[in-house]
Amino acid sequence: MSSFTLKISAGCVVVDSSTILDNATVIVREGKVSKVGPSEVLQNVKADKVIRLKHHILYPGLVNAHCHLELSYMKGKISRRSPFTGWIKQLIAIRAGAEKKEVDDGIKAGIGRLIQTGTTCVGDVTLGGRVPPILKRSGLRAIVFHEVLGFDPNKADLRLADLKERVEKTFTTDRLQNGVSPHAVYSVSPKLMKETARYAKKSGLPVALHICETLAEAEFSRRGSGEFLSFHKSIGAHIPGGHPALTPVNAVSLTGAIDNALLIHMNHPNRGDLSTLVRKNAKVVVCPNSNRWFRRKINHPIIKFMKRKIPVGLGTDSLASNDDLDIRAEARRIMADFPELSISDVFDLATIGGARALGMPAKYGTLQVGAPFDAGAIEFKLNRRADPLLAIISDRGNVSKTWVGGELLKF
Ligand SMILES: [Zn+2]
Repeated sequence: MSSFTLKISAGCVVVDSSTILDNATVIVREGKVSKVGPSEVLQNVKADKVIRLKHHILYPGLVNAHCHLELSYMKGKISRRSPFTGWIKQLIAIRAGAEKKEVDDGIKAGIGRLIQTGTTCVGDVTLGGRVPPILKRSGLRAIVFHEVLGFDPNKADLRLADLKERVEKTFTTDRLQNGVSPHAVYSVSPKLMKETARYAKKSGLPVALHICETLAEAEFSRRGSGEFLSFHKSIGAHIPGGHPALTPVNAVSLTGAIDNALLIHMNHPNRGDLSTLVRKNAKVVVCPNSNRWFRRKINHPIIKFMKRKIPVGLGTDSLASNDDLDIRAEARRIMADFPELSISDVFDLATIGGARALGMPAKYGTLQVGAPFDAGAIEFKLNRRADPLLAIISDRGNVSKTWVGGELLKF
């Protein structure tokens, strides 16, 4: 972006959850917030373009810290009734019969939905390689975590070589970064997990992985038994003695893959796991509506993560296990499940929390001076009693504009 200056004034500007200004203006230079303050103070600042949004709230763009855009076309195609491994089997079968166009159309619709709901940054786990070019064209800020799977340790080198090729083929920009995702302890051998972690460290790539999602995963990780053993046998992937024989967090910790990583789900940590997360600088993304979609009895202990100051953000997961990619719906689910959290806490989870969970630099997820101008605007007539943060998270306000790096995105 050039030295183009944009001046946007709005009836209400949410700089962050604790700085909310009435009748305020944001000056954007070179895609970043250069000034923010009362409109009467900034009225004489010259700009190339001036936008006045009278009955609007301007706010930091929302962060969806976990998604699989490439699964968007699966919406409504998978039965919720089967156990988790049954869900995986359905997903594999649908994926095997998918047309490229159908997948691409789903990715485009998914990205459209993110922009339409005021999301400006996404942490997306991808296997097929179809997402990065479409994401790049959309203008969204993203980390694309290239997924790697493989429970046979003899094939670890092959799988790693394929992963490296996919990473190298994806050109990064200031908005699109590469990362890697060794899927989970039940689908990645300890050898492949370790080699992926070593590659990520050497290449400076962020890591995201699914962990502590179900109790069946923990049973398999520790004892090699249960639902996942049957699943491995049924797909011809059983490796006798191949399970880590540790809890999921300890298993991943031993491979080095947990260091600075984004841990997806963390629905049921074991004793001592939170201390490990703090020690290893791990972050967490919870997916409340995905848990609900699966009708899980165990929910993530988000308050415990927050108390231990573990960076935590919100994710939708994919449309194969959720009905929407709207992070506001995840925030509302958190409010319903954890009424002890304040609206500021919840707004932070949907913005700066997600940015921190994705390892983004400081100020991302805010409209503070120096932050990239990643923002949304909703039409909303505020009265004195209305809470702007609640107005953003509710679905009553219509998102009219979404910017990333000062660029207005289409949806
Ligand atoms: Zn996921």
